[in-house]
Amino acid sequence: LNYHMTKFVLSAPDIRHLPPDTGVEIAFAGRSNAGKSSALNTLTGQKSLARTSKTPGRTQLINLFEVADNCRLVDLPGYGYAEVPEEVKRKWQKSLSEYLQKRDSLKGIVILMDIRHPLKELDQNMIKWAVDAELSVLVLLTKSDKLASGALKQQLSKVRDSLKSMNADIQVEVFSSTKKVGVELVKNKLNHWFNV
Ligand code: GDP
Repeated sequence: LNYHMTKFVLSAPDIRHLPPDTGVEIAFAGRSNAGKSSALNTLTGQKSLARTSKTPGRTQLINLFEVADNCRLVDLPGYGYAEVPEEVKRKWQKSLSEYLQKRDSLKGIVILMDIRHPLKELDQNMIKWAVDAELSVLVLLTKSDKLASGALKQQLSKVRDSLKSMNADIQVEVFSSTKKVGVELVKNKLNHWFNV
């Protein structure tokens, strides 16, 4: 697939506003500031496909993009904003679990975590929900350029070991939008999930 052909389709407040549930969807999730927008922009070769400046607490939306016919990428709202009201958090959690459980076309999820602050509680919840929903999961440790190679390797094995101890058979890789690390690997993984 040519990810540079990706186009914005729509923003939806919940699953009832999504397009027909056909083809394959792959979602991107992560704590706010994990580098999700940058990763989506890097993968699609577009400067501002996923806006990199987002206002926390605004209407929480699922942003949907189309790479090709029946191949969609979904940008889920960043989680972990401290200043979002409880009520909004609860609503979002409900929409999210509904999306993960009921969306038939949802095949896989890419969960992004800053390599310096991985596996926070919300990340672990996200991974559990994805596994429970029987989705394929790829974990990306982002901003890998921030660590020297020794520290990077250490952090990578730490996360891999933690996930193994959670009984989750999940692929973990490093990624950097700045240094273009992991870009081809992610595209190959997405192609595989898209079945192209
Ligand atoms: P999001 O909230 O998860 O969408 O995160 P953003 O993509 O907006 O990135 C959050 C911050 O991290 C921004 O200041 C980015 O410039 C920075 N950032 C994102 N990716 C990288 C990366 O690969 N390397 C470095 N050094 N900084 C990054």
